[in-house]
Amino acid sequence: MYEQASLGFIATLVNASVVAIILFQVVPDLLLAGWIVSVYLITAGRYLLVRQYRKHVSSGSGEFDYEQWCTYFLIGAALAGAAWGAAGSILLPSGSMGHQLVVMIALAGMASGAVPVLASVLHVYYVYLVLLLLPVIAWLLAQHSTPHLYIAIMVSMFLVMLVATARKINANLTESSRLHFMNEELLAETKTSTDELVQANLDLESEITIRKEIERELLASKEFMEKVMDSAFNAIYVIDSEGRFILVNEATEKITGYSMTEMIGMHFEEIVVSDQLSRAEYLFQRSVVEGQPVHGENMEIVSKAGIIREVVITHTPLREGDHIAGVVGIAEDITDQLQLQRLRTEFVSTVSHELRTPLTSIRGSLGLMRGGAAGDLPDPSGELVNIAYSNCNRLLKMVNDLLDIQKLESGKLHIRLQPASLPDILQSAVSACRDYASQYGVELLLEVPDTDVQVSVDVDRFAQVMANLVSNAIKFSGNGKAVSIRVLSDASHARIAVIDQGRGIQEAYRERIFDKFMRVDASNTRDKDGPGLGLTIARSLVENMHGSLSFESKPGAGSTFTVCLPVARHVLPEVSDLA
Ligand code: ADP
Repeated sequence: MYEQASLGFIATLVNASVVAIILFQVVPDLLLAGWIVSVYLITAGRYLLVRQYRKHVSSGSGEFDYEQWCTYFLIGAALAGAAWGAAGSILLPSGSMGHQLVVMIALAGMASGAVPVLASVLHVYYVYLVLLLLPVIAWLLAQHSTPHLYIAIMVSMFLVMLVATARKINANLTESSRLHFMNEELLAETKTSTDELVQANLDLESEITIRKEIERELLASKEFMEKVMDSAFNAIYVIDSEGRFILVNEATEKITGYSMTEMIGMHFEEIVVSDQLSRAEYLFQRSVVEGQPVHGENMEIVSKAGIIREVVITHTPLREGDHIAGVVGIAEDITDQLQLQRLRTEFVSTVSHELRTPLTSIRGSLGLMRGGAAGDLPDPSGELVNIAYSNCNRLLKMVNDLLDIQKLESGKLHIRLQPASLPDILQSAVSACRDYASQYGVELLLEVPDTDVQVSVDVDRFAQVMANLVSNAIKFSGNGKAVSIRVLSDASHARIAVIDQGRGIQEAYRERIFDKFMRVDASNTRDKDGPGLGLTIARSLVENMHGSLSFESKPGAGSTFTVCLPVARHVLPEVSDLA
């Protein structure tokens, strides 16, 4: 209504002006002036209302009260209808038939012209129409003449037609506005959906970007891990709980000769040498079933080219939650190292062998010279021969030790166990050291039990053990001290203790004293120390005789080395011996 009103206002003003001009001097001036002014004022008022409405709508401020604006328009329309209705009742009676026709046409024009504007709100139009036409119909009927009655009927019919037309237009407008609203809603919905789709698309894109970023990072960290693994010198691999390789590094490829693709899925047993299969299986089960790590186990594997390589393996159980999914393994190829070691050992062994014969011969000759076989030697020659003899002994011991250790390590040292009387073999072993003891000014005390104790030993090797322990005790005791050899035996074991009152062994060396080439504080005792193999050989020999060798020591107060051997039999002394 408000949108279309302006055109109606212009039509109203034009129409009213035309009517006023035509009726000038026909209708009393005051009446006409009053009417035209009231029409102008009402139109102006309605125009202001429309402006107000537009301002309100365009500002968008505040609530839009549809009913209120309808009422305002209704009042305006009612006033306009009434003004024109007044024209029908006040202006119509004046003048000629022609003048009355002008007023009628003006009224018809105002009635029909308002249809498009007011049809949108029917009750406004009805009020306007009734107020506009009812006075004229009333006036016509009041004339009580047949022509006026016909005109009244025609005007009424015109009114009905206008109502019908307005209704029709209203129906069309309603439908069109309904369609318009539907369209608006549809557009709004489409816009919302489109906005949602755009948003969803944006979210998806950002999610994809984040995912790509994460994937890139994952790839980078995977590549880094692979680089780390491939830079490792040792073989690093993962075996699943079935025993199949699921991850290997480049070093594994180098050691085994198999490519990474060949290795993945391969069972570890396929590369272990056949006679070590059960041990390999046992070690694997220990990690996978019992969750025990395996450290530094030697293993032989066969490469793709059929070459046997020796490796040292370390297996750590691979835990996933509360179950073990496999093992993470590290293998160090020690083939070349072992080869080198073998060459070295062979070399030492050959040299030792080559040295032993001439040294034995030199020692024999020197021994004869010392014994006067070549006549009495004048001083200082005698003294020099003694020194040469002693050093020759040291050299020979060293050579023998080297040969022994090599035999022990290669399992080639044969121990022949035989029953022997412990007191007897101790007597002879200790007697062999008496000369040596007197050289150092040390007293040797042998305390053997009255009862004979039979032990199962290799007599020569036992003597070698005792010689080593007693000579060490003598060497590290010092002049005037005593070294005691005591036997303590029970039903199952005989313990032979070699006790000295020497410098003792510091706690720091406790763990390593039986290691190969171990010498305590070598700089101070260079003249007394040998190559540091004696105790290693002694312990190994005793163990080969099913015994054990241990020691107790108080630094500065002395040491006690104890050989523990299983007793073969206790023999009671004969009555005559006891007497
Ligand atoms: P070696 O064969 O050179 O005599 P051993 O293996 O018998 O060497 O002894 C190793 C080292 O242990 C010796 O160098 C010495 O320092 C120390 N040792 C051995 N026995 C004694 C002892 N009774 N008192 C003090 N030190 C000892």
